[in-house]
Amino acid sequence: ETVINRIAAGEVVERPASAVKELVENALDAGATRIGIEIADGGKTLIRITDDGCGIAPEDLPLALARHATSKIDGSDLLEIRSFGFRGEALASLGAVGRLTVTSRARGHAEAAKVSVTGGDMGSVTPAALTRGTVVELRDLFFATPARLKFMRSDRAESQAVGDVIKRLAMAEPAVCFTLRDVSNGGEGRITFRADAETGDLFDALRGRLARVLGAEFGENAIAVDTERDGLRLTGFAALPTYSRGSSVAQYLFVNGRPVRDKLLYGALRAAYMDFLSRDRHPAAALFIDCDPQLVDVNVHPAKAEVRFREPGTARGLIVSGLRHALAEAGH
Ligand code: ADP
Ligand code: MG
Repeated sequence: ETVINRIAAGEVVERPASAVKELVENALDAGATRIGIEIADGGKTLIRITDDGCGIAPEDLPLALARHATSKIDGSDLLEIRSFGFRGEALASLGAVGRLTVTSRARGHAEAAKVSVTGGDMGSVTPAALTRGTVVELRDLFFATPARLKFMRSDRAESQAVGDVIKRLAMAEPAVCFTLRDVSNGGEGRITFRADAETGDLFDALRGRLARVLGAEFGENAIAVDTERDGLRLTGFAALPTYSRGSSVAQYLFVNGRPVRDKLLYGALRAAYMDFLSRDRHPAAALFIDCDPQLVDVNVHPAKAEVRFREPGTARGLIVSGLRHALAEAGH
C-alpha cells in the first residue's frame, strides 16, 4: 500500500509546485474564499496551506488521507468531472512522500481535529485548536523517496514554480483572496504575491484580477471575449495586437476552471492572431472555455494539464473565430 502510494505520488507530485497545486485545488473545492500559502526553501522543507473552506469532520480525516477513498470516479462518470479533485489520491500521495499534517474544523462542528501521516504511516486523530477551515502542512517533501529529492531544483527555481501555479489558479478564481508568503527565515515571512478578492460582475472581477497578476498594462490593453459555439463557451481577455510583452510569454488557458497547457488551444490562439503577429510572438491572453463535462476529457494525464475535446475542431474554431471577431470589433 505504501509502495503503491509512493509510485502514485511520483505521478501526481513531481515537485513542490505540483503539491501546492493539488492542495490549493482542494481548498477551492472546499469553497474557500481566503487561501494562504506559505513555503520555506522553495517548498522543499515546508508547504502550508490555510483555507476557510468547509473543513473535514474528525471521522472523515483518515478517509481523506487514504488512497482512493474519496475518488469521485466510479467508471460511469469518468467524463463528468466538475470539481478539481477527482482521483482521491493527492493527500495519500503527499503523505507517502513527506510529513503531512491535516488540521481541520468542519463547518458546524464545535471541535477541530488533526491527523498526521509520515512516509505513509498514519497516526491517530487527535483534538486540535482551529476556528475554521483547514490547514494542511507538508514538511520535508520526498524525504521518503531520496531519488526524487535529487530532481528538485534550486530553492529559487522551485519558489518561482510555486508562484506560477498560484498565479494561474488566482486568475481562474477572482473572488478568492490568495496570499503567498516565503517563510524560509521564520516568523510571519515575506509576502511574495497577494491578490485580494475582486468584486463586481464576471468581467470586471476578471479584468481586475488579470491586472493584478499580469500587470496593469495588460489590463489596459486587453479586450473582453465572450462567445459561444456548439455548447462551448469562451470568455476572458486577449491582448490587442499592438500590445507586446517582449520575450515574456503570458498565455493562460482554462477548461472548466482548470488551468491547462494544451497544444491544440495554444495553436488556435496563435492562429487567431496570424494576420497581426510575426511568427515568434505569442499573444498574451487569459481564456476560459466552459462546457458540459461530457464534451471534454480532463483525465488525460495525472498532472491534469492536458485536455481532450470530443470535437477538437469546435474548440479550435471557437477560439479562432471568437478572438478574430473580438479583435475586429475593437478595430483590428
Ligand atoms: P480529491 O481531491 O481527488 O478528492 P484529495 O486526496 O486531494 O483527493 O483529497 C481527499 C479528500 O479530502 C477530498 O475529497 C476532500 O473531501 C478532503 N479535503 C482535502 N483537502 C480539503 C480541504 N482543504 N478542505 C476540505 N476538505 C478537504
Ligand atoms: Mg484533490
